Amino acid sequence: MATILVTGGAGYIGSHTRYFLQKQGHSVIVVDNLSRGHREMVPDGILREIDTRDTARLTDLMKRERVDAVIHFAAYIAVGESTKVPELYFANNVSGSLGLFDAMLAAGVNKLVFSSTAAAYGIPQRVPIAETEPITPINPYGESKVMVEKILEWLDRYREFRSVCLRYFNACGAEPEAGLGELHDPETHLIPLILKAVMTGKPVTLFGDDYPTDDGTCIRDYIHVSDLAEAHIFAVEDLLNGGTSDVFNVGTASGHSVKEVVTAVERVTGKKVPFTIGPRREGDPPSLVADSQKLQSKLGWKPKRADLDRIVSDAWEFALRNMNQNEQLAYGRRQKADT
Ligand code: UDP
Repeated sequence: MATILVTGGAGYIGSHTRYFLQKQGHSVIVVDNLSRGHREMVPDGILREIDTRDTARLTDLMKRERVDAVIHFAAYIAVGESTKVPELYFANNVSGSLGLFDAMLAAGVNKLVFSSTAAAYGIPQRVPIAETEPITPINPYGESKVMVEKILEWLDRYREFRSVCLRYFNACGAEPEAGLGELHDPETHLIPLILKAVMTGKPVTLFGDDYPTDDGTCIRDYIHVSDLAEAHIFAVEDLLNGGTSDVFNVGTASGHSVKEVVTAVERVTGKKVPFTIGPRREGDPPSLVADSQKLQSKLGWKPKRADLDRIVSDAWEFALRNMNQNEQLAYGRRQKADT
């Protein structure tokens, strides 16, 4: 078993990965500056509040704890925000990664799993998307991840620094029993926003219904966060066993439209979803679905929780447990009106 440092381990995907790493028997240290993460998502004793740009403290920590490998999640992830303040994304996501890599080199740690994104492909020419598709990000968030992937290619070539970049599609779902789930502020992701609409009765806006898809709404590849977390375990264990650097998509290879997600939420919650149709959101391609054959054949990973109703039901369970006071009141009123 290894000692693994998880940056951004107080965030959504990082906290689930920490959970599965520990279940697997690894020893985990979480580094998070808590600027967007949640302290309560990290078990007592393993959190170090350090910014990834603080190379000196990270070097010291990795030497002291004899870290074997790093899984690097710490980053900002809001596409819309990245178009308003791109410099924030390059400072945090790119400089933050460099600060971490410098520390790893100084501490003699040369194995890294990096949290990358399907946003690297921009508007893809072919769907399902294979890793060989051109890299043409269309927003600063995607570009910041691509820059780090490029840095990693050079570190592999000249510094014997081995990395696996995982390009995520749409992470969703939760591990409610473990108290883990999606808590972004502000929330911009589809499933938590639809669930909020169910609770409060306030309509969610669907961004466009005039796309060239069967029902006119966008298609995405929704991947359960626990399946995603498990992909990191396969990747880090491969590196620990001497594996080489590589890049993989992580998705289920099947797509669902926004309206199909609405219908799944209605099935799972037994409630009508109030929604309105709004204009398209800038930069939203009609369809993004992963070809994730490479990850399955090279590392033996498989999504085990790909069923959309399973994903929605885990997210709903977590949302019910984490309702704020206003949501509780509104949902209570809706429940009463239904009976
Ligand atoms: N979406 C929507 N209304 C919302 C948020 C998202 O219709 O309030 C749509 C969005 O246009 C996209 C899909 O839901 O087609 C998934 O969006 P999300 O922001 O969850 O993830 P992204 O695909 O941007 O990574």
